[in-house]
Amino acid sequence: MTTSNDIPLASHPNNRAAHHRTDEAWLQNAIGADNVLVFLMQKGQPLVAANGQNLVWLGPEVAKITPQGEQIFLGEDKAGAPIFAVDMDPTFKLEGSLLQGSGDFTDMRAAASGLSPMEANLASTARSLLEWHRNHPFCAKCGAKSEVTEAGWKRVCPSCGAEHFPRTDPVAIMLAVKDDKCLLGRQAGWPAGFWSALAGFVEPGETLEQAAARELEEEAGIKADPASAEYLFCQPWPFPSSLMVGIILEAQTTEVSVEQDELEAARWITRDEARQVLAGTHPDIYAPPPMAVAHHILKAWAERDS
Ligand SMILES: [Zn+2]
Repeated sequence: MTTSNDIPLASHPNNRAAHHRTDEAWLQNAIGADNVLVFLMQKGQPLVAANGQNLVWLGPEVAKITPQGEQIFLGEDKAGAPIFAVDMDPTFKLEGSLLQGSGDFTDMRAAASGLSPMEANLASTARSLLEWHRNHPFCAKCGAKSEVTEAGWKRVCPSCGAEHFPRTDPVAIMLAVKDDKCLLGRQAGWPAGFWSALAGFVEPGETLEQAAARELEEEAGIKADPASAEYLFCQPWPFPSSLMVGIILEAQTTEVSVEQDELEAARWITRDEARQVLAGTHPDIYAPPPMAVAHHILKAWAERDS
């Protein structure tokens, strides 16, 4: 059975060694240590080797590459080597630098499907953190410029002392099922033939199950009892900071009525069709890629006997 440990971007996590985050002297020593492992990010994109299968890993020589932005401590590998992501200034160009020819800064979605699970997890984590810093430079309490602390895992406001932590926004991503059929939806901007599970952010004051049922009714007009929700697994999704929580919901109604602002269409498909979608043999639907949790939700349901 698939669990959260098998889902891309979340599998093979390293030891976060969070106790080092507050130890400035240790961090400073670690980034210059002979065994340090550093990869670069720029504008949310990891530097990926030309083979597309690895991050470009640097050692202490990273200090020679400027201009740099934030240094994020991501933990330690199995041998205890410290791992950092370094955010490169947007003006930095690979061409003419020490890294010329090593690889390219690569769109995260494209990069993640080629990288090893551990490297995809690291790049995904770095992207989420760095995007949070980029989008939250000011204190939400008093408006002063806040400062990065704890190796990238927190911001503090020098003016009012408020502490700010990286966001993780829970999203219910659900497959509504009824009588051996499941419901897929598509948004107007998606490529032709692409259908996926419905999804929506959890709002204050509601449970994941309630959010799933509410979104299902709002987007597709289908009613479901939140109590029927079955949790499958979840996936951190760094675009920029969601936690996609996979749910199967037992639908009580079947008549689709789509909310056009959200969806262009929704349709029921049989379990046999779902298997065709996953096998790439369905005549007019193709599945979300294996990197996305929606793929695994559909697969988990399609592989059940009934
Ligand atoms: Zn403040």
